[in-house]
Amino acid sequence: MPDQPKSSCPLCDGAGYVVDQVLGSTARARRCTCQSVCPRCKGTGYTLVPSGETALAQECACRHTDARLAIFNQIGIPAAVATASFESFRNWSQDHAAARAVAEDFARKFRQDRPTKGFLLYGRPGAGKTHLLAATLRYLALEKGIASRYVEFMLLLSDMKAGFSANRSHMEILGPLIRVPVLVIDELGKERGTDWERSMLDELISRRFNSGLSTLFATNYFIERKAQKPAPGTRVDPRSPEFLREQESLTLSERVGDRIYSRLNEMCAFVKLDPGTDFRKDRFGSGSGDKKFW
Ligand SMILES: [Zn+2]
Ligand SMILES: [Zn+2]
Repeated sequence: MPDQPKSSCPLCDGAGYVVDQVLGSTARARRCTCQSVCPRCKGTGYTLVPSGETALAQECACRHTDARLAIFNQIGIPAAVATASFESFRNWSQDHAAARAVAEDFARKFRQDRPTKGFLLYGRPGAGKTHLLAATLRYLALEKGIASRYVEFMLLLSDMKAGFSANRSHMEILGPLIRVPVLVIDELGKERGTDWERSMLDELISRRFNSGLSTLFATNYFIERKAQKPAPGTRVDPRSPEFLREQESLTLSERVGDRIYSRLNEMCAFVKLDPGTDFRKDRFGSGSGDKKFW
């Protein structure tokens, strides 16, 4: 919180809130114990600001804090990236620096009263795409009080299927995702989806686009076919040969279909964020999944 009184609290480092990382659950933020009684307003919710010879009562910043924490808690940020922020995103490469700049620029400039073009991060797993998406939503919630939702593509499809078999109308299923100011769809294209699922996805993102709402994406599929061929001598992850084989044979447009792809083009700046070589082995001595690197 920018206007929260700074303290020397070791638990929150002066931020006034902490984010709990509970595996199997989504990220939850709460007021730090140092703020259980706000040191600025002593819990009254108001502070007195000198005005000429008198003083005016002004709403204390801690009131915004509670509202923003509630907004953060609605996002659905996965536990693995619960604490992800722009500050904790490391610029390992030019790709990383450029992608972070795009995400940060989006978050800082975003306004609810006018359309803001979104971005789509693409590249193989392990580069920190999910970290950057979570950091963007965190910034919007905690610094600006803007609501958003994070969904994984596969879960989105299974929610659609479940809603459809429960005889809910497609607007009932898509409604909340159509209206939220910022929507993140992670792992786009991970499942090919049926024609019906694709048409639902197309409707979701088209309606958002037509309403001037921003949607952000991440995908493991590449935009251009050539870039996905590993450079000579590049070590590939041997634990996912299937993934790489598929990766080599399909681009994002082939994976999601031309219609959705051209929509993505209108809505988003495409930003490559790829680990390049198998840096996880080289730098950390062991490989692991995308979600562990944030
Ligand atoms: Zn604290
Ligand atoms: Zn207060």
